[in-house]
Amino acid sequence: SPIVIAIDGTSASGKSTNARLVARALGYVYVDTGAMYRTLAWYCLKLGVDVKDPEAVARVCRRWKTELRCVDGQVRLLVDGYYPEREIRTAEVSAAVPYVAAVPAVRRWMKRKQRECIRFGNLVMEGRDIGTNVFPETEFKYYLDASLEERHRRRAAEGVQEDLAARDQRDSQRKVAPLMVPLGARVINTSGMTPEQTSALILEDIRQ
Ligand code: C5P
Repeated sequence: SPIVIAIDGTSASGKSTNARLVARALGYVYVDTGAMYRTLAWYCLKLGVDVKDPEAVARVCRRWKTELRCVDGQVRLLVDGYYPEREIRTAEVSAAVPYVAAVPAVRRWMKRKQRECIRFGNLVMEGRDIGTNVFPETEFKYYLDASLEERHRRRAAEGVQEDLAARDQRDSQRKVAPLMVPLGARVINTSGMTPEQTSALILEDIRQ
């Protein structure tokens, strides 16, 4: 069966950059599960649904017509055939997504969709609960973190200003599939490391 490399960690710890580099080096398909939660949050906002109402959010999820597609080695979650690539990166969506992500029915729905991705082949999947909840059986688990200072610096360089600590706290304290270090994961502190160095470390570990 396909191989899954799980990369979890805090916000702006370097998950996306490294997951992409590792996927490219191995020829695996890259899956950004944060983008999937962001897409649902964006869709709720678009529909005018209160993201703090778990029942209403679960209802959106149940009726949601979506499609998973693999484009250029990357999985996309389409909404009515549309891929909201830029729309999901706004501050409004970032603030809304932890509420949506704390709804048990949403997490069950996402886990099912995320596990479906193995039909595209071997995966590098990044998120908050991949090693703990989505693919707990995989032997390849990594957990990235960096100092809050450095993480804010990285986002600032991308023109994004956000209270990352607040989002991490929400993600760590929710009842279902909270952000935590998966059992058996290799923890990497990426402070002061370049993406090339971090991804090389992960690749070396995988190849052992
Ligand atoms: O990775 P990214 O910052 O895009 O994730 C956005 C949000 O989606 C996280 O802060 C978290 O609330 C949620 N998320 C999650 N589980 C995942 C991936 C993302 O709860 N596996």
